Amino acid sequence: MFSLFRRPQQIKASLTKTRTSFLTRLTALVARNEVDEEFWISLEEMLIGADVGTTTTIELVDKMRVRADKEHVRQTARVQEMLKEELLALLQTAQPPPPLSNFSPPYVVLVVGVNGSGKTTSIAKLAHYYRAQNKKVLLAAADTFRAAAIDQLKIWGQRVGADVIAHQPGADPGAVAFDAWQAARARNVDYVIVDTAGRLQTKFNLMKELEKIARVLQKNDPLAPHETFLVLDAVTGQNGLQQAREFKKATPLTGLILTKLDGTAKGGVVFAIVKELQVPIRFVGTGETLDDWAEFDAQEFVAGLFE
Ligand code: GDP
Repeated sequence: MFSLFRRPQQIKASLTKTRTSFLTRLTALVARNEVDEEFWISLEEMLIGADVGTTTTIELVDKMRVRADKEHVRQTARVQEMLKEELLALLQTAQPPPPLSNFSPPYVVLVVGVNGSGKTTSIAKLAHYYRAQNKKVLLAAADTFRAAAIDQLKIWGQRVGADVIAHQPGADPGAVAFDAWQAARARNVDYVIVDTAGRLQTKFNLMKELEKIARVLQKNDPLAPHETFLVLDAVTGQNGLQQAREFKKATPLTGLILTKLDGTAKGGVVFAIVKELQVPIRFVGTGETLDDWAEFDAQEFVAGLFE
């Protein structure tokens, strides 16, 4: 399907910092032209340096060593090709859920993540993305903990042409989600995007709050929420991975939104995240404006690292 948000150039541009550091080292490594012990060690160091993470790197390199042995690979250039293949295969191990066949709108997307990760901006970008497909969108301000979050969401809603359902600060997030669903059904809305509290409370509270929102939504539609996206700030690298683990324990995730890819040289964290969580990256934030948003494509991402 044609999509305005399939944006290989944008993904590539946002990887500039990562690519510069990654490719410089890889080029130096490949120039050595001999696949020996030192080569493998340097390759490991390079991947860890790009924030691919120790466990993921060791597994990747071990796999490549076995392949290189079996395929009698002597040329470093061939190993580079192999690295591309393995990185792509790794990203493809996590897939989004298949589209629902018998479903009646609204499609409910729950968005979770810590404050500062770019959650509000990503909700606005996601709404803008659906609006660009001529869909009706409604935002639910279920992060009732921060008054500022509610105000922000209202401003974005106006900007992107989406209704916003909000209660007073401190209100019950479940009640907001319930009202939002009802309003969406009454107004023939296609997508409801639910903002949720972003403070990393105790895991127990986080879990209870997300469970409650889900339970309330399910009173209206047993299949809701249809998706739960976790927003992760790429700049935080391996710390982001730790956060992601906590959220995954608190709620089932169907996708990740990786923000601020443009602001980091450690875009390699994508591989660690997908490998460990087995949750697919669905969208990437590539800047601060509404249009700095792209559907994640594994092939484009890997190509963007190497070219
Ligand atoms: P929240 O606290 O998680 O809701 O975070 P916000 O949505 O308010 O975003 C925090 C900051 O990150 C803001 O200054 C955003 O403009 C910025 N931001 C969000 N996404 C991106 C992105 O993809 N790239 C860049 N460079 N900045 C981003």
